[in-house]
This record gives sequence, C-alpha cells and structure tokens, in this order.
Amino acid sequence: MSEHFDCDVVIVGYGPTGAVLANLLGHAGVRTMVYEREADIYPLPRAAHYDGETMRVFQSLGLMQPIEAISRPGNQGMHFQNAEGQTLLVRTASDKPGPHGFANNWYFHQPDLERILRHGVDRYDCVEVRLQHEVVSVTQDERAAFVQVRDLVGDEGERSISTRYVIGCDGGRSLVRRTIGGASEDLGLHQPWLCLDLVLKRPVDLPEYTIQRCDPARPMTIVNMAGQRRRWEIMFMPGDDPETIAEPDKVWRLLAPWITPHDAEIERSAIYTFHSVIADTWRDRRLILAGDSAHQTPPFLGQGMCAGVRDASNLGWKLGAVLRDGAPDALLDTYASERRPHVHAFISLAVKVGGVIQTTDPEVAATRDRSFARSGPEIFSYPVPQLGPGAHAGGAEPVGNVFAQFRLDDGRLMDDAIGLRFALLANDAARAALAARSELASALARHDVVVLDAPGREALAWLAREGLAAVLLRPDRYVAGVAEGVSDITTLTRLLPKIEGR
Ligand SMILES: Cc1cc2nc3c(=O)[nH]c(=O)nc-3n(C[C@H](O)[C@H](O)[C@H](O)COP(=O)(O)OP(=O)(O)OC[C@H]3O[C@@H](n4cnc5c(N)ncnc54)[C@H](O)[C@@H]3O)c2cc1C
Repeated sequence: MSEHFDCDVVIVGYGPTGAVLANLLGHAGVRTMVYEREADIYPLPRAAHYDGETMRVFQSLGLMQPIEAISRPGNQGMHFQNAEGQTLLVRTASDKPGPHGFANNWYFHQPDLERILRHGVDRYDCVEVRLQHEVVSVTQDERAAFVQVRDLVGDEGERSISTRYVIGCDGGRSLVRRTIGGASEDLGLHQPWLCLDLVLKRPVDLPEYTIQRCDPARPMTIVNMAGQRRRWEIMFMPGDDPETIAEPDKVWRLLAPWITPHDAEIERSAIYTFHSVIADTWRDRRLILAGDSAHQTPPFLGQGMCAGVRDASNLGWKLGAVLRDGAPDALLDTYASERRPHVHAFISLAVKVGGVIQTTDPEVAATRDRSFARSGPEIFSYPVPQLGPGAHAGGAEPVGNVFAQFRLDDGRLMDDAIGLRFALLANDAARAALAARSELASALARHDVVVLDAPGREALAWLAREGLAAVLLRPDRYVAGVAEGVSDITTLTRLLPKIEGR
C-alpha cells in the first residue's frame, strides 16, 4: 500500500515538536519526510524549562544522557514575588527524584536541546530531513494528502509530495492549521514581552529559583538557565516603543537592580506577544496538528514546549500502530480528544498565574498583596490532568494519567526495561496466572506487550496500595487500564489497538 505514496508521513516544521515526532517515527520504521523552512535551529530566546515527564520522553528516545548533559536540574521552583520581594505564590520543586524517576524540573537553552533531538533523528534511515524547504500548500483527497514544497536555495524548485498523513508541527502561524480551518478557543491572555538571554562573565548574586516579579510598575521573569546563561523576560508597559526597547542602554537600565554590563553580556533578545489559544480542530482526515500549531500558552509555567513534546509522544505511537501494524485510522482521532483537555488544564493555569504577574494597576496589586499576606504564600504544583476520552478504559484515575516511573530492583529505570511498547505491570498472583494461561500470555505477546518478569518492589508496593492486580501502560506511559483481579486482565487486552492479522 505504502508504495503509492512518496512517504507515509510528512512533518511540516522541525522545531522541538517535529524533531521529537521524527525520532519516534524513525524508531517505529515509518517512512517520514521532514520539511523545515529555516537553514538552522531558531536561535532566539525561547524555552528555558522542561519538566520530568518531558525528560521521560527524551529518555524513551534514547537521548536522556546527552540532554541531561546540557540541562540543569532545578530543585527550588518558581517564586512569585511582589515589588517588595514578598512571596505570593510558589510553584514547588524538590531535590528528590520526582514521579518520573529523576528531577521534575530542568533548565536549559532551547537550541542546545533541538540540536540533540536532530542528531537523534540522524539515526534513522527511514526519516529524511530537508532544511530550507518551505511547504507552500497542503491539500488532500480520499486517496492521499499532497504537500507542495519549495526548495528555497537549491535547484529542486517546487514539487508535490504524496503522503498518507501530514503533521503540522509548524508553530504558531501554522499553514497546516490554516488549511484545516476552524476556530480557536481564546483563553484571553495576549501580551507583548521583551525576552533576553544573558551570559555571565562573573558570578552574580541571584537566586537559584525562578523569580516571577509581580511588580505592577514592571512585571518581569528572571530564570537561572543552564551554565552561565540567565533569562530576563520583561513585560511591555504603556509607552514602551518596540522599535527601541531592546537598545542596550535601555535594557541595561531595566536590568540595573540585578545585573550590569560588568557582570554579563546580552546574547540575544526578542519581542514576543504571549498568547493563550487552543485550536478547536486538531485533525481533518489526513492533516493533524501538534505543538504550537495546535495550542499556545504564555510561558509563565515553562510548559509550551513540554505540551508539544507530549503531543508528539501521544501521536507517535498511534501513527506507528496505524502505519506499521495496520491499526485502524480511527485510533488517530483519540489523539486530539485526549490531548486537548490535558493541554487546556496547563494553559488555564498559566493564564491564571499570568493574571497575578501581569497586574499593572497599583491598587489592584496592593489588594492582591494584602490578600496573600493574610493567607501566606500559596504553594502549587503542576497539574497532572487526566487525558480526555480516547485509547484507554476511562473512568477514575489512574486510568488516563501519566504513570510514575519506578526503579526496578536491579536499579534500572522501568522505562529502560520496557522500551517504546505497551507494558503490563502485574503482581505476583497475576504473573503466576498469566504463566498458567498460555492463550492470554500469547495474546499479549502478539500485541508486543512487555510483561515485566520482575516489576520491582516499588511497582509491587504501588499495586498493593491501590488494591490492583495489574496495570496496562501505553507506549507513552499513560495508563490504558487497570485490573483489580487476575480475571480482569483479559479485559485489559481489549484496550490494545486492533492490529491487522493478529
Ligand atoms: C519567551 C519564551 C519562553 C518560553 N519558555 C518556555 C519554557 O520555559 N518551557 C517550555 O516548555 N516552553 C517555553 N516556550 C515555548 C516553546 O518555545 C514553544 O512551545 C516551542 O518552541 C514550540 O515548538 P514547536 O516545534 O511546536 O514549534 P516551533 O518551535 O515554532 O517550530 C516550528 C517550525 O516550523 C517551521 N515552519 C513553519 N512553517 C513552515 C512551512 N510552511 N514550511 C516549513 N517549515 C515551516 C518553522 O521555521 C519552525 O522551525 C517559550 C516560548 C517563548 C517565546
């Protein structure tokens, strides 16, 4: 079937979302073309933080080691402080391993990460990457999608590529989103900010934690990134001129309370309007959105890229199941139904804390500060939302939630033993029952489900605490379903994607 198409998947855009997806499709052996307009990785200041779940996706790509080497684990969280330095809100962090088996917060420089992700893609012959190739239009009919690509520098000119699916990882101004059409949900926050990366020349006395400075005269964010790099994000105030605000003397005046030209040099600056929007339609038959093309969040929680990585992780195994294993195309509908409410929870929270930071009315800020002073700083964590309805059993948590990553008794992290596959973690009685029921064991094997022989003390204790015999994990580490008794394991197998000939 696939010989009728130039490739099975076209990824439009090679930012972090496209690069994670290309790694996953490469691993699944899916014939993929990636088209990216730019010659090189986007160099301007963007993501500075990713979370433990995102690191876990990098782990599953086999890229955790090099990515850890360019990242700083952060254990002090994010402090929202008023103009007097009093703490209003704290996003927690810990120096203990988080639910994913390692630090739950990491700081980094986005181009360093993207370089490693791209090197990861080089491992796969089935993925071809074309830089300086712009996708100028996308169409589809019942048989195929067609991507019109323009070679921006070489002599290929323009050509049409036929493919089974087009994934628009093409960022906030997405052509694929415009082609799909449809409205977007607007969560109401749209605000220009100036973003600066500085590189220290000598040590400065700044806290490890991220500061969200809720000063109504000039809201700001200060981030300790990895190595010598520090980030300032500075909100535009009425009267600021976008033409001149980034001029060095103006910038140094704004930074003067914290840092001077003797301490650091300005590496790069950019002006962004932070948005909070989610597209209503993430899929139209062969066209699918992922990452910033589908949703944009203000960066107050450091979660925009993380959401794109989660999209890729959700979509990657489903595309693999459909294209490699013959699972029905309808499996791809579960991608948007699952991911949309999940990302909505993060963006809503970012908008809520954005309302705290971006307060510019001094009286409103004073009332806010008095209220926090009465109640004490509010401590919060990232949400851990359930997926929306989709490729899982539904019902109560932990079904549809990301599962913890336990250590096996030999010290390995659980996912390293599982790989990018479904997995059944079962207690002793359930494993014994499986051994005795060869038809069930072979049904699991036919679907490439790993049954961990030795799930380890931590996982067994979790099963016992939850009163469960087994839990079925998807390749993206979300819980597909749980079995209270051994007999329920047969029901779990019904959650596995129907695969041709198996
Ligand atoms: C100031 C700031 C701070 C941020 N901080 C954080 C943070 O701390 N943590 C976090 O997780 N996120 C953060 N983000 C968000 C994060 O940077 C983005 O969410 C992330 O880059 C989105 O990745 P993407 O791959 O979906 O899109 P992009 O990175 O925008 O990549 C899209 C790619 O598609 C290409 N493209 C577009 N159209 C075409 C076409 N027609 N043909 C070919 N190629 C095309 C573009 O050239 C681009 O390379 C921040 C963003 C900003 C602006």
